[in-house]
Amino acid sequence: MCDMDPIVELARQHDILVVEDVCQAMLAGYKGRIAGGVGDIGCFSFDAGKLLPTDNGGMAISDDADVIAAIRKFAVDRGADDLGPLGREHNGIGFNYRFGDMESAVGLAQLKILPDQLKRRVDLAERFTAKIADIEGVITPQVPEGQVHLHWLYPLQFDLKQFRVDASQMGEALSAEGLMCSPAMYYLIPHSHKFLPDREADLERLVNARTHLERTVRWGFTEKYTERDVDDMAAIVAKVTDAYRR
Ligand SMILES: *Cc1c(COP(=O)(O)O)cnc(C)c1O
Repeated sequence: MCDMDPIVELARQHDILVVEDVCQAMLAGYKGRIAGGVGDIGCFSFDAGKLLPTDNGGMAISDDADVIAAIRKFAVDRGADDLGPLGREHNGIGFNYRFGDMESAVGLAQLKILPDQLKRRVDLAERFTAKIADIEGVITPQVPEGQVHLHWLYPLQFDLKQFRVDASQMGEALSAEGLMCSPAMYYLIPHSHKFLPDREADLERLVNARTHLERTVRWGFTEKYTERDVDDMAAIVAKVTDAYRR
């Protein structure tokens, strides 16, 4: 998770609501609280690739009744106020993003198995991290104190000075060995949002993000791996990094 306390504090100073994007962090933990319950609004996606899939759809939560009423009006009631039995007045822009009963039923069933799945996922990710931690030039993800991280994707980073290839070539070699992964540069907004103005200036400015992403490959981690899969993946990382070490 982001370090939420300073974000919330800054927002409070300026009277801004904090909207948490929890799409890949359902039940992630921050200082004893869970993702989506730290800011003012938590937004979730339940699409097929997320931690809790219902096939499609999503959810927004808040403990502020006015915020919930505004979300409902905009996203469910097509911009209408309820005027009692079967009456309504459309007085704003709104949509019909209703979440169906079938998806809801699937979601409730998924919610029951989610904690066990997440525990398995975290155990396997920690096993993998421990196996690759001593490989020269590999930078493993660090989970800050007081946080529960769920490893939706596994980001593997390289100290590129130690290797003869860049992260993209490293990713190709790992994939050829069976660990299907891809570079992470897409996450740099100017790369993925090509319609934005001043993209070149942003690329110059975003030094930390660029450094971080340039050395990263990632893939969708899953609780469906076996221990053997995780050990095989660690062996592939060792083999490929050895082959390309300076
Ligand atoms: C998937 C995802 C979204 C978008 O969710 P949709 O249900 O596809 O609209 C937004 N933010 C993050 C971080 C996501 O992973």
